[in-house]
Amino acid sequence: MLFCENESVVKRTISISAFFLAMLAIVLYASLHKEEKVAPVVAPSVVAEISPKPIDSSPTVCGNFFKAACENKKVFRDPTGVVDPDVKGEIEALRLYETIMHKHRDWTSQKVEADLVRQIYTKKRVEQLRSTFDWVKTEIHKFIERQPAETFSETERTKMLRELDRTVLELPPPANIYFDELDLLTKNDVYFEQTPTGKKRMRVGGAYLLAAKSWFNQVFTFAHELSHSIDPCEMKFAGVHVHAYDRLESCLLNKKVIHKTSNWSACGDTDQFPEAFADWIAASITAESFVREIDQFHSKQDRESAAINAVKDICDEGSSWVEIDTVLHPPPRARVEGIFGSNQEVRRFLDCRVPRKSAEPCSFGRK
Ligand SMILES: [Zn+2]
Repeated sequence: MLFCENESVVKRTISISAFFLAMLAIVLYASLHKEEKVAPVVAPSVVAEISPKPIDSSPTVCGNFFKAACENKKVFRDPTGVVDPDVKGEIEALRLYETIMHKHRDWTSQKVEADLVRQIYTKKRVEQLRSTFDWVKTEIHKFIERQPAETFSETERTKMLRELDRTVLELPPPANIYFDELDLLTKNDVYFEQTPTGKKRMRVGGAYLLAAKSWFNQVFTFAHELSHSIDPCEMKFAGVHVHAYDRLESCLLNKKVIHKTSNWSACGDTDQFPEAFADWIAASITAESFVREIDQFHSKQDRESAAINAVKDICDEGSSWVEIDTVLHPPPRARVEGIFGSNQEVRRFLDCRVPRKSAEPCSFGRK
């Protein structure tokens, strides 16, 4: 689940809420499974495979990416893994926590948390996340550098790269690295924030490690969060107004991907552009990840699953018990279809040869 720092979630300690949340999660997950059993699921690829010579390799994915990705509860397996529902990862994390508590009733909460971290933030997983973070950061770096001089002035480019470079990934162990937000150890949140002391960091909740096995989801998620380090508000706080961002914002407004409310103000409580900006950059970086792993795709279904998994958890928003912000973010359909599914490189990867009427992509434009 892509949560950012502005989304307020009631803070609580694991020790007092774990049992309640576990019970709630089990009930929610049970109802989720119940729906799965009664709802017939038709994989989008089935439609394409019926036609011997499809004009478009997958009409559903190419014609309505949101429907293909979000309107069923199927778990898609791409060559790197799956993306389980948010709630499943959180249940698993909470069960681990409960098991540790029951086995070691004499342990302090610090010892319990340390053991939970040992089991979730394993060396292998942490190394993999750090490697993904480094790769994504490098790709965003390249993305900024290859924009023409007509897009960014050298001053803008230099300051953007500086803000990006100083963003760090903060991961346990030790558990107390999240001392100010210990419940993150069992949550499916990934977020970027700038601390009051000016440190820029990205954090990853424990349940995310358990639910998001697909590398493409990790790429999109990390790219989204890292893009916040250079989003219009972060750059504004850094004293830079990037004019190319205005052109991108105008385009997203014209395409109705984002909206301005009557009480809108730049970087205010209802400004959707920073989130749309982060999705827009993340879509391009994820398209790069498809190219990097191109040898892993052996079928059309592999490609579709990878693309769907990249943004699958955006579909989940609203199904978790955590209150979801619907003001700061564009709605899931706009994010999944209007930004990711409309990205020209993503469409090319999906072999979407039939051009859409509104296919002209939004861009930074030129001066
Ligand atoms: Zn965000």
